[in-house]
Amino acid sequence: MYSERFTKLTPYVPGEQPQDRSYIKLNTNENPYAPAPGVAEALRSYDVENLRRYPDPNADALCRLIAETHGIKREQVMVGNGSDEILSFVFFAFFDSSRGPLLFPEHTYSFYPVYCDYYGIDYKKVALDEDYLVNIDRFLAETGCGLIFPNPNAPTGMLLSLDEVTRLMERWPEDRVVVVDEAYIDFGGESAVALIDRFPNLLVVRTYSKSYSLAGSRLGWAMGSEELIRALYAVKDSFNSYPVDTLTQKAGMAAMADREWFDKTRSMVMAERERVSEALSAKGWKVLPSEANFVFAGAPDRDGKAVYEGLKAQGVLVRFFNKEGLTPFVRITIGTAEENTALLHAVDSL
Ligand SMILES: *Cc1c(COP(=O)(O)O)cnc(C)c1O
Repeated sequence: MYSERFTKLTPYVPGEQPQDRSYIKLNTNENPYAPAPGVAEALRSYDVENLRRYPDPNADALCRLIAETHGIKREQVMVGNGSDEILSFVFFAFFDSSRGPLLFPEHTYSFYPVYCDYYGIDYKKVALDEDYLVNIDRFLAETGCGLIFPNPNAPTGMLLSLDEVTRLMERWPEDRVVVVDEAYIDFGGESAVALIDRFPNLLVVRTYSKSYSLAGSRLGWAMGSEELIRALYAVKDSFNSYPVDTLTQKAGMAAMADREWFDKTRSMVMAERERVSEALSAKGWKVLPSEANFVFAGAPDRDGKAVYEGLKAQGVLVRFFNKEGLTPFVRITIGTAEENTALLHAVDSL
């Protein structure tokens, strides 16, 4: 009944979205604040009659606004149904193990190996530093058909400086694509989009799910040279011409236009991240320095799974990783001030 390639799939397991009771949900890196007020307004005032028409297949107005906001050309932008879909197009277009395995960090976003299996791409995991930072020199010591890493990395939250990313690009082969997955860059990092004119093989991938509070809309985008972006459009139009629906295009424009809301909400998340990090450290936890909207932290007296279970029993959801090297930790999404205070109380009652 099944294709052979289907029987080989190993699907990604998303974080729990439990419906059995209400939890303080700090397990999937969603934003604790509402989207910009203009999003509600755009959806409320939308003329539903227009839904009988297909959306703009290339979301041109949205792409123009994204380009303008980031100081690049419209031809350097494409949008998709979440950055996960963009990543899928990227893997299809640029990675192919006849030129070596795809390289990514040993501990990173667990969708990367899933897409590799889906497309039949070999991969090689490259070790992090002893202090959990992505190590550029270890990438450069390998040969691969391409390279992908999140910056800040997940689930560590640790950031590579723009200088380090530049150093990597200066040494990496020009005919192989490097993807920087900047899902969390707005929480304290400096974007590699500044480098796309200089390095035509650099692709930056972003999402509306975290810093723009639109995880439910499924919207992501890519920025790179016109050549890379053209390739992504060709993949999109070979798979689904309309990945971004009409309402989401409107929501995305309203969210991107409101720079004040964006800055206010991300600043609140960053301030709370510092408070939670300091409070956990004061309780004897090991807390990795995060520039994301979550912290990766380990309790002094029990492993991540035990912390997860102890917090869940108290109505607080976090995420643990059943993977060698990560078992001491849990990943805790930064919530509202009240949610974070509740988390810290729950930690005291573990
Ligand atoms: C959340 C996340 C994504 C997925 O974002 P969507 O736009 O919601 O699909 C991609 N990469 C990393 C590293 C993430 O943490």
